[in-house]
Amino acid sequence: MALVTTKEMFKKAYEGKYAIGAFNINNLEIIQGVIRGAKAKNSAVILQCSTGALKYAGATYLKAMVDAAIAETGVDVALHLDHGPSFESVKEVIDAGFTSVMFDGSHYDYEENVAKTKEVVEYAHARGVVVEAELGVLAGVEDDVVAEKSHYTRPEDVEDFVKKTGVDSLAISIGTSHGANKFKPEQCTKDANGILLPPPLRFDILEEIEKRIPGFPIVLHGSSSVPQDEVAKINKFGGNIKDAVGIPEEQLRKAAKSAVCKVNIDSDGRLAMTAAVREVLATKPSEFDPRKYLGPARDSLKNLYMHKVNNVLGSDNKA
Ligand SMILES: [Zn+2]
Repeated sequence: MALVTTKEMFKKAYEGKYAIGAFNINNLEIIQGVIRGAKAKNSAVILQCSTGALKYAGATYLKAMVDAAIAETGVDVALHLDHGPSFESVKEVIDAGFTSVMFDGSHYDYEENVAKTKEVVEYAHARGVVVEAELGVLAGVEDDVVAEKSHYTRPEDVEDFVKKTGVDSLAISIGTSHGANKFKPEQCTKDANGILLPPPLRFDILEEIEKRIPGFPIVLHGSSSVPQDEVAKINKFGGNIKDAVGIPEEQLRKAAKSAVCKVNIDSDGRLAMTAAVREVLATKPSEFDPRKYLGPARDSLKNLYMHKVNNVLGSDNKA
């Protein structure tokens, strides 16, 4: 039981053909919901903070709450910076005690991404911290990360990038996308129930990457599935979420059995918590104790996490 890096987690996940869930945290209820789900499933977990989360809660609070969560549950946790935009952002969280960082240089041209990532890796490795980098661009909106157009990772770049930068894991773009509206309706087909289905993930690119850097941990961002029952619940109780579409869980499950060792899920947790809060507020209009709606939101997130372990990650009893 400890705050650990992702090194051992990814080694076991790669060999065991499963993936570790990386959930975004920014408050007490989210941290408790996720880690109690991990405990119940006997799974390791990555808790990650975006720069938006750091602005909202502060690195010191988040680190202290994660320490408390580990003390309560005994679950192995990697505390990770999601989409660090700069060397300074990475340095700040390493100094605060994070064990893993992502430096996102995917919007730079290739050579600049290599140079900036390498600088981050040198600083992080000297302090026992692991680094995730990104090649290729995901579409969508995630806190401060906005990209209008995506482009897939070029498999011919990955060997060179990994060798030159010394990174520990690599986020790639094969068709996942940030946010709860991952694709426009016109990009999708519809199933028998009228539910939008996105274009399938590019497993051919993933396989080509795996061939070029065997044994190297791959990361998928934007891997929410946007459960339609949660969307329907939100809309039933006064919400207005339209055309929300995610990546089908079967595709993510398939990816988790490959070189993909880390799967980032954020929007699904937001939907589950919001649905629970809306239900309480709509059905008990005289309720005004925050614990009475944040508690159910926390329970709902815990259940969602456990569902993901079973249906997407395969990380149960692998802690
Ligand atoms: Zn991301």
